[in-house]
This record gives sequence, C-alpha cells and structure tokens, in this order.
Amino acid sequence: MDDYFAIDPIQDLDFSTRAVRSGTDRTNIGEHGEAMFLTSSFVFKSAAEAAARFGNQDPGYVYSRFTNPTVRQFERRLASLEQGEACMATASGMSAIMTTVLALMKAGDHMVCASAVFGSTYQLFSMLSRFGLQCSFVPLSDLKAWEAAIKPETKLFYVETPSNPLTELADLVGLASLTKSRAISLVVDNCFCTPALQKPLLHGADIVIHSATKYIDGQGRVLGGAIVGSRSFIHDQVLPLMRTTGPSLSAFNAWVLLKGLETLQIRMEQQSANAMETAQWLAAHPSVSRVYYPGLSSHPQHELAKAQQRRFGAVVSFELRGGDDESLRRHAWSVIDATEVISITGNLGDTKTTITHPASTTHGRLSPQARLDAGIGEGLIRLAVGLESPRDLCADLARGLDRIAK
Ligand SMILES: *Cc1c(COP(=O)(O)O)cnc(C)c1O
Repeated sequence: MDDYFAIDPIQDLDFSTRAVRSGTDRTNIGEHGEAMFLTSSFVFKSAAEAAARFGNQDPGYVYSRFTNPTVRQFERRLASLEQGEACMATASGMSAIMTTVLALMKAGDHMVCASAVFGSTYQLFSMLSRFGLQCSFVPLSDLKAWEAAIKPETKLFYVETPSNPLTELADLVGLASLTKSRAISLVVDNCFCTPALQKPLLHGADIVIHSATKYIDGQGRVLGGAIVGSRSFIHDQVLPLMRTTGPSLSAFNAWVLLKGLETLQIRMEQQSANAMETAQWLAAHPSVSRVYYPGLSSHPQHELAKAQQRRFGAVVSFELRGGDDESLRRHAWSVIDATEVISITGNLGDTKTTITHPASTTHGRLSPQARLDAGIGEGLIRLAVGLESPRDLCADLARGLDRIAK
C-alpha cells in the first residue's frame, strides 16, 4: 500500500467523476465494486513486518480501529470531494465533533460556537466545562459578536451553515478573516449542504465535519461521521486520538457511505429542487407566516447563499400564523399529525421527506431561554425534503394547513 493519506491521483477530474471513482483501491482479484473488508486485524508476513507496521515505518494496515481498506476508500473519496488533503472517518457525526475538539483543545482553552447548532452539539459543548474547556455561544451571522468573543486562549470557531432548523448562514469568508491571523481553527459542520453544494475549505475553513448519517448515506440506513482537513492535522492530531480512543467507523457502514457518495450530487440537486418548490408553495399559504429557506429571495441572506452554495439544500422550516404558545403548539402538532406521506421523525437527509416540531423534539432539551435565543418557537415546523414529488408533499401538508386557515 502507498502512504495511508496519499492524495488521490484523479483529483483534477470533475466532482461527479470523483464521486464515483476517487479512492478506489482494487485488490489483485480485480473486483469492480468496492470490497467490504470485515476483518478486525491484518496478518503480517513476518515478525519484522509486524514491528514495522506497529512502529509506523511501514504504512500498511494493522487493526481496524484505525486502519481498514473499506474505511480508507470512503475517507479518500470524501477528502477528494471536499477538496481537502486528508480525512478520518468516525462512528457518528457526534464522535467526529468530539474527536475534533479533543484534537484542537487542552484544559484552559476556549472555543466560540454559533448558538444555533444541532441539539447534541450544543449539549456536548455545554458539557466541556467539566473538562476545563470553555465555550462561548454567539449569534451565527453576527461577525462583530464573534470577534468580541475571542480570548487569548481561543482555539476554535465552530459553525453549521445553513443552520438547523432556521437555515441561517454563516459568512465563511468573514469568519475566516477573523481566524486566519490568530491561530484559531475554523471548523464547519457541512452536514446540510455536503460537498455537492458547498466546499467550506475553499471559503477559508480549516476543518470540515460531517454527520455522514444524513445526506452522505442519504437513505437513513447507517450512522457515520468524518473529519476532513490538512494532512498534518489528520495524521498528527486526529489519527493518534482515533487509535487510542476508538470511535471508529465500521467497514460495513463505510461501504454503505462510499456507495452513498456515488449518488450524492444527483440526490442533492433533486432534493434542493423539490425543497424550492415546496418552500414557494408554503410561502403562499395563508396559514404560514414565514418560510425559512435560503433559496427564497425573501431570505435575508439569499445573496450570500448564492455566493457560498451551488444550490440551497433540502431543509425548509416554516412558522404558523398567530396565537399564543399553547395554540401554536396544538396547530403545529395537528399539521404534523395530518400528514400521510411524510414521515414524522427527527432525522433528516433521507430520500423520504421528514417532518418535525423542533421545540418539542430536536431542541426539546434546551432551556426555554436557550430555545428563545436560537429562535425556535412553538409554531415552527421543520421539513427535510426528499425525493417524492413536490405536488404530493404539498397536498400532504395542505391537509393540516387548510384546516387551520378556516
Ligand atoms: C445529525 C447531526 C449531527 C450528529 O450526527 P450523528 O451522526 O447523529 O451523530 C451533527 N451535526 C448536524 C448538523 C446534524 O444534523
């Protein structure tokens, strides 16, 4: 085997070609489909070879906690699509986030995070003080607040863009202008867009995180995560942590995700188109007071979305009109319960459209104040639009929405 983190030789080809071909490492059997290596360890030709592998003098495979050929094919393909130098896959998105924080910070250090991030990410960062790490939360799009939050011990900035569930954007170039001169790492969770729609490293991010569970799998089958960054970061800081802490991606899951990457672009394009149609329909409905979707010209950051993303993604949130918190919750639940096609689930990134009430599910563990700060009201509903026909999706939503309008 060549160098474990070798740059893929087909890096110059187009995205759709790399999505299908990058990272392929065929065995001498000549299999066309990528092989699934369900093995915990690898055998050595001699004691000397074993010693060289364990001592890192020979770059071959050792043990699947940190080196596996199927996982490596997924890592190399994703690194190629993000236009990063190297990638390390993890068991889930959360383990990718935790590993990145452990790699970049030590006790006494500080990080700044957007207040509107995935619920479990918020919980994880709130927990860090137990380990002597501090985290400040600031509004995602307020660059002045980011700058004001910087301390001498600040080691990383953490954002998701667009945010969940309000589809607010981070200005990546603006954030990078704050981090570049200060030895702060800009970490971007690219779960919502995937490299098919947005490549944060090209806008100044240092590290990209993925919950591959979402659009990379795309069909709601397995959990997985990934960290993409410079070769030195992945090799010197992430790999030793993976090797000793073990939040590793299984070869089976890596194989599923590798196949997911092959159809990622066409799924993201079609799901974005379906989301756009659904968002436009919702914006015209009398029961809806506001639609959050970067593709609508009414979105306050529509121009930034056009500059930073190729398409606008598949997550659409909307707010129901009027009423106090209790009646808003009742209406939101009735719209959700009236659906017959759409799945009621907190997951997203599936070919099947999903619907959820963030205030009582994904963001239910936040304190009422934190929920208010994040802008998650009782009348808010989040859709993650899939591959069904938008006409059927709108008819499914109309059942509940028309009833409220009366
Ligand atoms: C789901 C999600 C995560 C966590 O990923 P898991 O694979 O569920 O651990 C992190 N970030 C975002 C934006 C997510 O949607």
